[in-house]
Amino acid sequence: MSVSHHAKTPKAMSKASGAPAPQPVNAASYAAPDDRGRFGAYGGAFVPEVLIPELDALTRAFRAAWDSESFQRDYRQILCDYVGRPTPLTFADRLSRALGGPRIYLKREDLCHTGAHKINNTVGQILLARRMGKTRIIAETGAGQHGVATATVAAKFALECIVYMGAEDMQRQRLNVERMRMLGAEVRPAISGSQTLKDATNEAIRDWVSHPHNTFYIIGSVVGPHPYPMMVRTFQEVIGKEARAQLLQYEGRACPDVAIACVGGGSNAMGLFYSFLGDARVRLIGVEAAGEGLDSRHAATLSCGTPGVLHGALSYLLQDGQGQVMSAHSISAGLDYPGVGPEHAYLKDLHRITYEVASDEEALHAVRLLSQTEGIIPALETAHAVAALARMAPKMTASDVVVLCCSGRGDKDMTTIMGADVAA
Ligand SMILES: *Cc1c(COP(=O)(O)O)cnc(C)c1O
Repeated sequence: MSVSHHAKTPKAMSKASGAPAPQPVNAASYAAPDDRGRFGAYGGAFVPEVLIPELDALTRAFRAAWDSESFQRDYRQILCDYVGRPTPLTFADRLSRALGGPRIYLKREDLCHTGAHKINNTVGQILLARRMGKTRIIAETGAGQHGVATATVAAKFALECIVYMGAEDMQRQRLNVERMRMLGAEVRPAISGSQTLKDATNEAIRDWVSHPHNTFYIIGSVVGPHPYPMMVRTFQEVIGKEARAQLLQYEGRACPDVAIACVGGGSNAMGLFYSFLGDARVRLIGVEAAGEGLDSRHAATLSCGTPGVLHGALSYLLQDGQGQVMSAHSISAGLDYPGVGPEHAYLKDLHRITYEVASDEEALHAVRLLSQTEGIIPALETAHAVAALARMAPKMTASDVVVLCCSGRGDKDMTTIMGADVAA
């Protein structure tokens, strides 16, 4: 197997991807990505040549591990005893009544160890690293949430861990830096460029290029070169699988009318949606960050972006006319990313997933709404999904069932929320 690493120009791409006719996606025929790691025209592996054999080896190791009983047993056991799965599916009766529309269920990823869904993936990748005999873990992190989830599993499995983080982000996210250090990880500042996530990613790739044999690069969302989008999605699929079984128990049917989740890179959304892709009656809704508004600073990559290459894959991207990556903005650090996973780009073009947006202000209101109706303080990321649902709910009926992915808890965001209150 080999993957193409020849970049297509954004211009050629936008022609190729210009709104095809809607296609039903059914479980039997949906087989993305293909052998080259392509989701339709998107995905692939646009990386330095020396990494191609490493990515090929990773793809083979992942497939073999996923098919092996011993890997499955270890993975399930850790998800159960360490992460705390299955997470509950909570019927949000007061939120449902407050919005006056559908019956709303929350898939409680906020109750995972470390407070969000990200650990489902880092657990899977560290088990794979161990199986491949890797001794050194690297990761990059923006807000620090993925860095913490990586440092956590590296501690648990006694592997050396280096997390690259923009120097500017380290200033803004001091608490997460200290968490990673507490867990025994080394946090290395990326001091080039804007000193944010983009630069940290470049540093991590540079590190991997110089130590390919002993190093495993843990990527935190359904982004990056093949096989990462497929692998991370697979490790997050547990969210949707559990939700199906739980909904069947509560409602007598496995399929909701609507499944809704926030989209940064897109991993909690793909994790929830994947199990429902083949059920045409389930409307799948991804919610991006509209920041200060779509005509101002935002992170609505699928709603406003164009195809281009970022972090080793072709997908939608916020870029200017010259193809320069624009800096994204969202009040929630986890959605503040100018790219998005290639599978989302593909499913958007197929019209299988619909994308909505919610602004900083709407998200702040939604944090309060969920806190005060359900006693659950959601992450600001999650609050974007709540906000979009609040807008849609009046058009739905009492017989409609919604599953919303409660991707994380909001404790980490309290200073941001308090700061926004002072400013308002
Ligand atoms: C990181 C994060 C997100 C965004 O990442 P996805 O890959 O889009 O899921 C959403 N919610 C929480 C709580 C996060 O920490």
